[in-house]
Amino acid sequence: MFTFHHPVEIRFGEGVISQINEIVKEQGYTRVVIVSANSQIENGVIEFIRTQLGESVKEIVSDIEANPTLENVAAIVEAMDAHNVHAVVAVGGGSAMDAAKAAAAAYMQGIEIEDLLGHDDFTRALPIIAVPSTSGSASEVTASSIISDKRHELKIPLIGPALYPKTAIVDPELTLTCPQSVTAISGIDILCHALDCLGSVKNNPISDALAIRASKLAFENLLTAYQEPSNRQARKNLSLASMTAGMAFSQTGTSGSHAMSYYLTSHYDVPHGEACAFSMDAWYAANAKANPALEQHARDIGFDDAEALSKAFNKLKSEMGLAVTFDDLGISREDIPKIAEESLRPANMKNNIAQLSRDEIIEMLEGK
Ligand SMILES: [Zn+2]
Repeated sequence: MFTFHHPVEIRFGEGVISQINEIVKEQGYTRVVIVSANSQIENGVIEFIRTQLGESVKEIVSDIEANPTLENVAAIVEAMDAHNVHAVVAVGGGSAMDAAKAAAAAYMQGIEIEDLLGHDDFTRALPIIAVPSTSGSASEVTASSIISDKRHELKIPLIGPALYPKTAIVDPELTLTCPQSVTAISGIDILCHALDCLGSVKNNPISDALAIRASKLAFENLLTAYQEPSNRQARKNLSLASMTAGMAFSQTGTSGSHAMSYYLTSHYDVPHGEACAFSMDAWYAANAKANPALEQHARDIGFDDAEALSKAFNKLKSEMGLAVTFDDLGISREDIPKIAEESLRPANMKNNIAQLSRDEIIEMLEGK
């Protein structure tokens, strides 16, 4: 028995951004605030959107940090409040979308910013129109948002049905200007989302189908998009892979690789995608041992078995200059026991099919 509920309207395709005015008008929104990544202001995308939406745009909030903060959320809520807006349009990578999603809920539910990270009941939000400019986070199709509290050095995922955007406008052309390092780091996260789904105890036949498709698309297109940033076909397939993986993990949650990544990010500053990818190969292998269905999934993705998939994953990381070993990360092997211990804390480690002990995780990491 399983349920599958995905409420996001998806508008996908090259050039679909030029329909933004139609989409906003159709829904009856005449007052919107735009939340934007600075890169999208610099490359002219925001000016294009502002021209399309005309008078409807009441304010543009930018300067969103890479790990969006409570201060970023507060600035967006303030703009929503000042103009009594009908919707928020978020343009950028995961940071801009996550900040806009958190603000949309805080505004609508009247949640004080200082109470936001302890809040776990997100049931209402201002309608969110999400326009991703990178392939990876998939925030445009998920019900989660990760917000940082700088003062207390916390990074907390907010999860709730209201955090699903109303509409995702996914235009692969917006990713053509994505820098090479971002393509690599956010692109490898697509595979971590999809493979974590296959290794999640909450998987179901629909999430498996989406995750297998997303993995195949990402394995086949990520290196090309990295090496040839203006390759439209590769960019389009990556946008599709990212969104498809997002739809899958919106149902199952993530598992081992993400659970292990948080400490690598918070303690050693390893970027999210690279941190997840660091252990993804090992988690896939461990999960395949615990459930042979993952061997079949590896074949469906295009490999001989789970081991071949893990090897190909590491080769892909090397080819894009991402860390494969502790040496590459500049982390001392003496830290392995602590990393293993910390990886057992996050709730999504319980999602993992292979329930490994601290010692088994240490052994897994010794191989790196
Ligand atoms: Zn991720």
